[in-house]
Amino acid sequence: MTYDPNNIFAKILRGEIPCEKLYEDEHTFAFMDIMPQVEGHCLVIPKKPSTGLLDADPTLFASLFATVQKVARAAKAAMHADGVTLMQFNGTAAGQTVFHLHVHILPRKEGISLKAHSGKMEKSEIIKANAEKIRAALAA
Ligand code: AMP
Repeated sequence: MTYDPNNIFAKILRGEIPCEKLYEDEHTFAFMDIMPQVEGHCLVIPKKPSTGLLDADPTLFASLFATVQKVARAAKAAMHADGVTLMQFNGTAAGQTVFHLHVHILPRKEGISLKAHSGKMEKSEIIKANAEKIRAALAA
């Protein structure tokens, strides 16, 4: 599959569609998932285009996972979670729906299961409130 520069995450990176941004540096960008599978579900993407992990430039993994760690720590603290699940899908058969490499960060609480993947759009006030908590934890 070739990379489509008009995929949703490429548009978010270019600022063409809105998002609840959490963090940005030279190589990576983090924002809230609009169909969260759990409270505080967020995504980290590299700025360099690739459809997924398999066609990515491996030199970007250090910066990508440094940001995943930073945002995962903040999301866990902000959501008062007990743990963090990471997910990353490659190809339609694997459940991927947006074809720009991304890592899902899911703060987990004991006894609370994940909702459906790409299931239901959350109210923007709730996404915004959780984003504010995660941004505060990132700044702490
Ligand atoms: P995947 O199925 O791994 O490709 O995940 C794509 C994720 O992107 C899903 O969890 C969607 O809920 C999420 N998503 C889709 N569109 C947007 C958007 N405009 N802003 C934030 N998250 C999105």
